[in-house]
Amino acid sequence: MTQSQAPITQDVHTIPRKLPEGGKVNLIGLTRDQLRAALIEAGTPEKQAKMRVGQIWQWLYYWGVRDFAAMTNLAKDYRAMLAETFEITLPEIVSKQVSEDGTRKYLLKIAGGHEVEAVYIPEESRGTLCISSQVGCTLTCSFCHTGTQKLVRNLTPGEIVGQVMLARDDLGEWPEKNSPKNETRLVSNVVLMGMGEPLYNFENVRDAMQVVMDGEGISLSRRRITLSTSGVVPEIAKTAEEIGCLLAVSFHATTDEVRDKLVPINKRWNIETLLNALREYPRLSNSERITFEYVMLKGVNDSDEDARRLVKLIRGIPAKINLIPFNEWPGAPYERSDWERIESFADIIYKAGYASPIRTPRGEDIMAACGQLKSATERARKSRAQIQAEAGL
Ligand code: SAH
Ligand code: SF4
Repeated sequence: MTQSQAPITQDVHTIPRKLPEGGKVNLIGLTRDQLRAALIEAGTPEKQAKMRVGQIWQWLYYWGVRDFAAMTNLAKDYRAMLAETFEITLPEIVSKQVSEDGTRKYLLKIAGGHEVEAVYIPEESRGTLCISSQVGCTLTCSFCHTGTQKLVRNLTPGEIVGQVMLARDDLGEWPEKNSPKNETRLVSNVVLMGMGEPLYNFENVRDAMQVVMDGEGISLSRRRITLSTSGVVPEIAKTAEEIGCLLAVSFHATTDEVRDKLVPINKRWNIETLLNALREYPRLSNSERITFEYVMLKGVNDSDEDARRLVKLIRGIPAKINLIPFNEWPGAPYERSDWERIESFADIIYKAGYASPIRTPRGEDIMAACGQLKSATERARKSRAQIQAEAGL
């Protein structure tokens, strides 16, 4: 029987119950409202629910506690009830690699045995955690290693928040009782630039970022979170309204002809449509500019003419252009532009009045640089021939 022929009425016993049988509900990734509802369902009197949410929230996200028994401002029997009904579960770190330059790449296992990667990049004045939003990606950008892996599934809010929490575990960043608050943050910035297209997993990404931004927990400011999209136009305004973070756009080409090949979502929403949506991105100002990401591919999109066209296209949009030297991966159908070419390109953009930083590749020795992430064990792979065919080569 095909799905459309499935009977409409369902046997009550087959309707999934809210609390999975035998299983426990994971508290990580629930929004405050969801946590409140879950506590009430578990028997917490409504009048107390708000206070309990506040207490539990602080334990989870301010102190980083993983054990209900340690939540000492809750009565013992209440803690026991929590432990019986709920769990505090994070993805599991399968391996950690540390690059010569200090970049750390975490390979994480999530429910179902799938794997995703997160990367921590320490810099002098900040530490950036690059997190994933999906296992694989539905899109097939021809220069991206993740794009050669089929989409397996969206990450849950808990799996997205979990990446931030695991990095803080590994870096020893949770505050310690009775010791002065540590003012310098190790994970000071979060970028949604790992595996997957965050705007194709909008709700989960939004809920996860609400948790990460909450002032009584991890408390990262919305201006320290950057979401990178390949250009899912209908979700762009929603990102500003419902998350409020900074936006980066994988632009990568200055004509529809080239962008169609590099970022195939361009066939759905072309350069003009994308730029119109960006012009309307709320809160745009000189302090909250849009980052245009531009991967430098030898002989493909790196001419002076491209640079001049780019400047013309983005006129009127508060922007900075982040030039990313292409990071190679096995079987990649492109090469990195020469250094002089990248500098000449950067110069044209800079002279037109835009910041044009060239992103230093980090963690290349451990395949942690932009666009190199892909779980080696994932079986659903595309062949080299398929990659080249999709790239129109
Ligand atoms: N899916 C989102 C976010 C993840 S990719 C997006 O496409 O924006 C993060 C950035 O790395 C994007 O700008 C992406 O285009 C770029 N990127 C992908 N593969 C790359 C590679 N091999 N070398 C350099 N940058 C790459
Ligand atoms: Fe997906 Fe982004 Fe890679 Fe494109 S660049 S395939 S959207 S992860």
